[in-house]
Amino acid sequence: MNIRIDTQAGFCFGVVSAIKALEQELKKDGTLYCLGDIVHNNMEVERLKAMGLKTIDNETFSKMNDCKVMIRAHGEPPSTYQIAKQNNIEIVDATCPMVLKLQKDVRMGYEKMQAIGGQVIIFGKKGHAEVVGLVGQTQNKAIVISNEEDLDKIDFSKPLHIYSQTTKNREDYENIIEKIKARHLTKEVFVTDSICKKVSLRAKSIGDFAKSVDCVLFVSGKNSSNGMYLFELCKQQNKNTFFISDVEDIDIEQVLKYDNIGISGATSTPMWLMEKVEDYVYKKFENQ
Ligand code: SF4
Repeated sequence: MNIRIDTQAGFCFGVVSAIKALEQELKKDGTLYCLGDIVHNNMEVERLKAMGLKTIDNETFSKMNDCKVMIRAHGEPPSTYQIAKQNNIEIVDATCPMVLKLQKDVRMGYEKMQAIGGQVIIFGKKGHAEVVGLVGQTQNKAIVISNEEDLDKIDFSKPLHIYSQTTKNREDYENIIEKIKARHLTKEVFVTDSICKKVSLRAKSIGDFAKSVDCVLFVSGKNSSNGMYLFELCKQQNKNTFFISDVEDIDIEQVLKYDNIGISGATSTPMWLMEKVEDYVYKKFENQ
């Protein structure tokens, strides 16, 4: 039996640097608050919790004073920074540089649209932390669309500037842009390519990886949108793809039928978890 971990799987650089910054703070102070889950993976959150991480929500954050709080890679809207200033909260800002750049672009796009009576459109998941951070750059005026049905929220007689959440699927983004352009009356549609390269490259490579093995154990948290998306891509190329969050989810009898087993995961899946899956399957194979 041969087991292979997908070399392209694992954390993206935004998450790697956020976790590195968090670990440094925890080593120094023993504890640190983080606004929302540092990563959409419960196993990794639990590991960091044991080191002193305390995850808080926005309501708790707004009532805190004189403390230190980390902002994760997804970023936050300007209102979060205002609350921090008012409440003397020191921010450890781990917003991914690509998200920061996108926030700035959306802010500028909003100013431009304001000047010509246009609208800012964000293609993303409503309520997702990154989307909330982006909408916040537009005084909460941007229109969030997730699918074709949401297009009715748009006034097609006005100019538009469209952005995407960094982790969206490129094909879906291109399809929705085409549909918007087809319905737009004046054709004044500006589009920014804001999908993270790491995500689009992963989408390309995961299919090749899935085809190169007999079965895939796809490791991800159920709350990761990127995980769900990559799992579907994997499954399209290899029907023997199994979604697992930890070793307990593995149907070992089923998996041991295959000679070449692949392990892959989302941009929020830690490498140590994929290695744990690898060890588990090897041990089960040796002891059968
Ligand atoms: S997916 Fe891309 S944009 Fe999002 S945190 Fe990771 S590196 Fe940054």
